Amino acid sequence: MKVLKFGGTSVGKPERMHAVAKLITADPDAKIVVLSALSGTTNALVEISQSLSEGKKVQAKQQIDKLESHYRAFSEQLVSGAAGREKATAIIDEHFEFLNIILKISFNEALNKDILAQGELLSTKLFCAYLEEAGINAVLLSALDFMSIDEFEEPEIPRMKVRLTALIEQQKGQTLFITQGYICRNAKGEIDNLKRGGSDYSASLIGAAIQASEVQIWTDIDGMHNNDPRVVKKTFPIDQLSFDEAAELAYFGAKILHPASIWPAQHFNIPVKLLNTMQPDAKGTIITELPNGDGAKAIAAKDGIIAIKIKSSRMLLAYGFLRKIFEIFEKYRTPIDMITTSEVAVSITIDDQKNLEQILKELQPFGTVELDHHQAIVSIVGNEVAATPSIIKKLFDSLNEIPLRMISYGGSRHNISILVNGQYKERTLQLLNKGLFNLD
Ligand code: ASP
Ligand code: MG
Repeated sequence: MKVLKFGGTSVGKPERMHAVAKLITADPDAKIVVLSALSGTTNALVEISQSLSEGKKVQAKQQIDKLESHYRAFSEQLVSGAAGREKATAIIDEHFEFLNIILKISFNEALNKDILAQGELLSTKLFCAYLEEAGINAVLLSALDFMSIDEFEEPEIPRMKVRLTALIEQQKGQTLFITQGYICRNAKGEIDNLKRGGSDYSASLIGAAIQASEVQIWTDIDGMHNNDPRVVKKTFPIDQLSFDEAAELAYFGAKILHPASIWPAQHFNIPVKLLNTMQPDAKGTIITELPNGDGAKAIAAKDGIIAIKIKSSRMLLAYGFLRKIFEIFEKYRTPIDMITTSEVAVSITIDDQKNLEQILKELQPFGTVELDHHQAIVSIVGNEVAATPSIIKKLFDSLNEIPLRMISYGGSRHNISILVNGQYKERTLQLLNKGLFNLD
């Protein structure tokens, strides 16, 4: 069984949905198809929720109406027969009735999650209405019946496995299943989600739960590129990445894949393919366990990073100093991305500023604390990059003009990360494209 996930732009227009139907029926293999919401929908739902949380009901009503007319127009082009239109209308009626009822009740966090879930519920149901009209036999599985997270918001793969296997077994002979990305149930049994962009994560969790032969992530770009196409002129898709390389790239800024979606695939050793709906025959990128090839494969950058330096003469020859500092970050559940130390100071970076104030307060007793906002981590990834002297030389030669705030080298053999002020991010990516790939 394969898992195929289609993102918002891949289902965002009626003709794109028709193309997805063609794609998933091109071969007879059994598959679970995971869909995102139509592009723009989750953002619109976030705005509706925001208006409601601020008590702006008139504004929320306008936003709901606007979204509703988008869906009415969408469905008119999606299905053409009377039966299909009737089905689609009933689906839209049901979900917008729900949103309109919500206008009348008092807002809370659980309701917020209910609102956010509407996008994936709508996209999957409308897609199934189209499949039915097109005479394609498929079964809609509700992610709310099998996807779940525990009280720490961690996915429960073993439970998902039991539930999903049972649901599939009930449909003997069926080879095509459709389900929602992003949404799940939490430990209280309420509707919840895997955070923004979480449909990729859904796909790899489903892949892990059913031991899929592969997970395909279909987007609108032909795989993971060697650099950010929005910043540098020439980029190329990477044929192959190891899970470790892909995880670093996804985490450090490559927008094509949700960073959390790597570990389930890696843990259960399921190949992940990044493919392009607009160019289904393009090779894309395949991610497997295998480290492959030599040299730098890709560069990615992550913005909005905060660097914190703690300087203390008490750190000199002391042990336990770092532990005490790390415990503060642990207490506030704030991940640290980069770290460098000298004998009297330690610099670390974070990108989650939610608890920054409390963290800084607790760091004060340890020494002088300095803060740099608006930093960017630029990560160079590739098999053995950090163990290949010629790459290191090229890297630093090409960055002559850029002031480097931190360098993380040797943490793993396939990654070198540097921290630069955000204003140098684009220039750094351009210089590295030239220096490492000889491209403009
Ligand atoms: N629809 C959700 C979002 O926009 C999940 C996803 O598309 O991955 O964040
Ligand atoms: Mg996405």
